[in-house]
Amino acid sequence: MSVEYPATLGMYIGGEWVSGGGRDHHSLLNPATGEMQAELPLASDADLHDALEVAKHGFATWRVEAPELRGAVLRKAAELLRERADHIARVTTMEQGKPLAEARGEVIAAAGLIDFHAGEAVRVYGRVLMRPTGMRSLVLHQPVGPVAAFCAWNFPALNVVRKIAPAVAAGCSVILKPSEETPGTAVEVMRCFQDAGLPGDVAQIVFGVPDMVSRRLLLSPITRKLSFTGSVPVGKHLMKLAADTVMKMTMELGGHAPVLVFDDCDLEKTLDILVGHKFRNAGQVCVAPTRFHVQEGIYEDFARGFAERTKQIKVCNGLSETSQMGPMANSRGREVLERLVSDARSSGARVLAGGVCGEGRGFFFQPTVIADVPENARAMNQEPFGPVALLSPFASVDDGIREANRLPFGLAAYCFTENGRRQNLLGDAIEAGMVMINQVRATWPDAPFGGVKESGFGSEDGPEGVAAHLVTKTVHVG
Ligand code: NAD
Repeated sequence: MSVEYPATLGMYIGGEWVSGGGRDHHSLLNPATGEMQAELPLASDADLHDALEVAKHGFATWRVEAPELRGAVLRKAAELLRERADHIARVTTMEQGKPLAEARGEVIAAAGLIDFHAGEAVRVYGRVLMRPTGMRSLVLHQPVGPVAAFCAWNFPALNVVRKIAPAVAAGCSVILKPSEETPGTAVEVMRCFQDAGLPGDVAQIVFGVPDMVSRRLLLSPITRKLSFTGSVPVGKHLMKLAADTVMKMTMELGGHAPVLVFDDCDLEKTLDILVGHKFRNAGQVCVAPTRFHVQEGIYEDFARGFAERTKQIKVCNGLSETSQMGPMANSRGREVLERLVSDARSSGARVLAGGVCGEGRGFFFQPTVIADVPENARAMNQEPFGPVALLSPFASVDDGIREANRLPFGLAAYCFTENGRRQNLLGDAIEAGMVMINQVRATWPDAPFGGVKESGFGSEDGPEGVAAHLVTKTVHVG
């Protein structure tokens, strides 16, 4: 086993780190080497029962705590995250694969997000409606209750913070099941909250067999909100479970982001921005640009420029200083890509770069560019969630918009054009929760992040992220 990776991984239940005790285990692999690096304890039914009872108690006390105190605890947690960023980034790279610089940037971004929520904790306002003869109505926003949260492995620090920080700011308690594939980062982030003074009954983390954990937490009347980040099929399944107790939900699901590149864009600049963004985190990003629809006049130049830049990307273990792209996080993601590339080839598409696995025992896949991908190729319809860029030409603005809106997903979309009137049209017409025009950044602490259509509903970040943890009550006073 590796000596650098945390030797013990535990669950945090009721303010105690628990492991061992005859619990089942999950073996954790390093994606860059394929070697086993730790064992993760999995929750028993008794653990989940305990966590629910603790969360019930934690909610009763935290909901009446002063918002200023909630904010102060969050601010301290952000400070600790920054102090420990180098260490946490190393853990992230060893379990998820992304290059160290990306991992460190993620931890710093997570700290910024916690700071934003610290400020929001004191900004939950209500309203007074004046009535005749001294009567009035009070509109109150109160914390919804204990939250059951589940998140994916692609941003092991940021995804965890997105579940804990808004719940804590709003006055809720939360039981989080992070991904069993990236537990080390979740544990380190949780330690920051613990060391910042967050009571052990307010935020807890458990690991386990996902289906067993979600059934136990979502079927309990204690849980009042489901917050999920992950794929569309699992999201639909959890929504059905949560329907039984009619709970509030935030669903951050998958996407298949279109990119519309128009003849009038600044081509070289657009290529520089897009190639870097496409292969960030080996393409395992829910808002990753994926379907590149390029206007006919610049299509061949765009394809050539994209492939040339892609071939320059240095792919190796994320711990190496020179790494620009690490391995994929797991072997199943790579197998999906192999099938999608093979299907695209057989439907007549041209592979301009990559298209094959990397060398060694790690889960490497070469950065891949495929041109002339027909609309009916599987990759054009199923989220690849990996380092694969799919290119196809379009003629008119209407054709581009039709193509962008063709799929049932609607998370992120990108447009590159210097025409201001067209920018406004695209911002209005594209069916996505986030539309980026001439730039690629989708995540800002004060801006809502979320999708439409099958990519989900309910935003994270921004004031909307805290509002999603509140219920509205009206009190009419005589
Ligand atoms: P997944 O849905 O299989 O898994 C995501 C998480 O859910 C994991 O932690 C997994 O353990 C857990 N999970 C799986 N089955 C579960 C169940 N029955 N009950 C409870 N939890 C369960 O997705 P994945 O393929 O591992 O992750 C990638 C997907 O997540 C992509 O579709 C990506 O677009 C999406 N994603 C969305 C966002 C967003 O903000 N919209 C962010 C990151 C990832």
